[in-house]
Amino acid sequence: MSRIYRSKHQSVQIPECSLFTYLFKEQDKLVGGWDGSIAAYVDAATGTTLTRKFIRDTALSLGHGLLHNQRFPLKKGDTVMVFSPNSVAFPVIFHGTVAAGMRATLANSAYTAPELEYQYKDSQAKVVFTTEEGLAIVLDMFKRIGLSPPEAAPRIIVIDTGFSWAGGPHVEPSLAVTSFVSLGDLLKKGRLSEEAKFDGRNAHETVLLCYSSGTTGKPKGVETTHHNIISLIQMLPAVFPTREAEDRLLGILPLYHIYGATKLMMLPLNLGIPMYLMTRFEPVQFCQNIEKYKITHSLIVPPVMVLLARLPIVEKFDLSTVRILISGAAPLGDLLVKDVMNRLLALRKGKSKTPLAILQGYGLTETSPTTHMLPQPDTLRKIGSIGQLLPNLECRLVADDEEHDVADGEPGEIWIRGPTVMKGYLNNPSATKNSITPDKWFKTGDIAIQDKDGYYYVVDRKKELVKYKGFQVPPAELESVLLSHPDIADCAVIGVYDEKQATELPRAYVVHANPSSLKAEAEKIQFGSSVVRWMESRVAKHKYLRGGVVLIDAVPKSAAGKILRRELREKAKADVAKG
Ligand code: AMP
Repeated sequence: MSRIYRSKHQSVQIPECSLFTYLFKEQDKLVGGWDGSIAAYVDAATGTTLTRKFIRDTALSLGHGLLHNQRFPLKKGDTVMVFSPNSVAFPVIFHGTVAAGMRATLANSAYTAPELEYQYKDSQAKVVFTTEEGLAIVLDMFKRIGLSPPEAAPRIIVIDTGFSWAGGPHVEPSLAVTSFVSLGDLLKKGRLSEEAKFDGRNAHETVLLCYSSGTTGKPKGVETTHHNIISLIQMLPAVFPTREAEDRLLGILPLYHIYGATKLMMLPLNLGIPMYLMTRFEPVQFCQNIEKYKITHSLIVPPVMVLLARLPIVEKFDLSTVRILISGAAPLGDLLVKDVMNRLLALRKGKSKTPLAILQGYGLTETSPTTHMLPQPDTLRKIGSIGQLLPNLECRLVADDEEHDVADGEPGEIWIRGPTVMKGYLNNPSATKNSITPDKWFKTGDIAIQDKDGYYYVVDRKKELVKYKGFQVPPAELESVLLSHPDIADCAVIGVYDEKQATELPRAYVVHANPSSLKAEAEKIQFGSSVVRWMESRVAKHKYLRGGVVLIDAVPKSAAGKILRRELREKAKADVAKG
């Protein structure tokens, strides 16, 4: 029997148009007038401020440059890759891509060349935006697909040269990069009179391709549409804490992840809240920026909460302006919430009477992303909860048999239906079919319970995914790399939870190809350490085997050959408990 839970919030209207039209034109209908002078993004390191008007105009110039550039002309519908750490240029590139009617695929800026190659090929990207810092990896990636540097050059757009952001000093391209296309050149050639239109049904075309492994296998391109993102932005205000004139958001999330892409690049434009962007999270700078810019909001991940709870340096800064912290991307423990709450309130020393809320959101790349959020007044009353469903969404908690929904209070897999569910996995109909039912329910692979007041709690994960500090670590991907090691006959990767850092750590269980060659315990330990190091030159940092490599005789498998990951997770838990 199906028990469909509907959001308690009133449904919202969703305009059917391009994301660009929505963010830069429809806003006058939403927030009482499109004020171009409002600061949208601020580079936290330099204070460089980009206004809404500047972003819109620059994005239209970039759209023109992408469509009319002579070295590698692109057309509406093409895919553009962005491989860059956070910078205020990043959102402008994204909006420019959308203005031109193209799709953007955002790659993790820590990727190695093989990881980037996988996404570039899979997404069928045509060009890559990158920084000078990322050039070596991008060139290596093109070499791997058979393009020499001169052949690859027209496909590489270097971000940090040839253009001055909002009146800053013009940066001349260094000689080393003059053969590539520069962002500055693309911006000089003209400006689109208007953005590409995606009205009506066309709003259901793909605009964003982030990569997620879903419930199983390797990363897949998640087809997020204009309509998906517009829906999220329309739905969020129902659960997003109330706005005040002095609201300022500190952005630390990577913009290439859908959490950062939607909450930092798009939501602030819509809400009219300036977003102070950091290149990456660094605890001292995080606190310094809160004090310097009188930050009121930040979106974070649980490991940041650990630092706020424990780092002595936190006490040196005035963090009293902070009103709202929203944690997402991984489970947030109750004790941690209490610790951070108590510490930040104590540190205020009476300077501010504004209430402090620590909220938890839940979602997935495939659901654009947020589906649940804890409302502001419930921080302590419903501690540990991911809150309630966003408007326009439906949810089921489904039993293992996938036929029945669980009884009240019982754990079941979260299934979601609504306008933020992705179109599907790019060019992967079988993965799409396995994750979205014919009546449009998306299977999350996460297990939750619902209390009698309709608040959800994530209690387990059914899928094989491991998350390190909010980043996806797809076990299947690591396993295929490990299997290319000459001494590894079989393996399985799982996550072990590290209480101290509030994150899972990827751990590999491996079977040695010639087990009798390792006799002493010390040799086994040494082999494990050598595999950890071997992986470090092959995968991005967040995928390092920080949970260790453990030798086993055989990987436990079902009769059908499926790895029994639960068994390994239990074993890891027991081993960790033993110390
Ligand atoms: P991603 O697609 O990278 O955003 O990862 C989505 C996955 O992160 C979900 O399927 C969950 O397993 C996990 N996740 C996200 N938010 C939470 C949360 N608040 N509590 C527990 N797990 C979460």
